[in-house]
Amino acid sequence: MVAGNSDFSSEGKVNLKEVYQAVDAARAELVRGLLESEGIAAVVQGAELQGSLGPVLAGSTLPGVYVRQEDVASALEIINHYEHGELEKGADWVCPTCGEHIEGQFSSCWKCGTERPVAADGV
Ligand SMILES: [Zn+2]
Repeated sequence: MVAGNSDFSSEGKVNLKEVYQAVDAARAELVRGLLESEGIAAVVQGAELQGSLGPVLAGSTLPGVYVRQEDVASALEIINHYEHGELEKGADWVCPTCGEHIEGQFSSCWKCGTERPVAADGV
């Protein structure tokens, strides 16, 4: 019996590719939701296995996010933007106008006033 509600997860013939390996189930679900909000059908595998098979796979399986092969390129792009955007929030950055090194908490260059480049419109 297959858990999950994706329309292709029970077909068995579809060639699914892993596009993201999450550190935990919550992160996997977050990425799955992100992909589905962009119109890409995605399924999380691994997390359910841990629940249903328990100790058998303990420590060996991290939840992964899978999509159809045809969606891999788009999915990777979305995930890349997501991760990049998340990293940018608190990271130091370099002003593209004057090259000054700016600390992460500043949203614009103290020297010339250029706004910090935004990689993704994360909320
Ligand atoms: Zn500057």
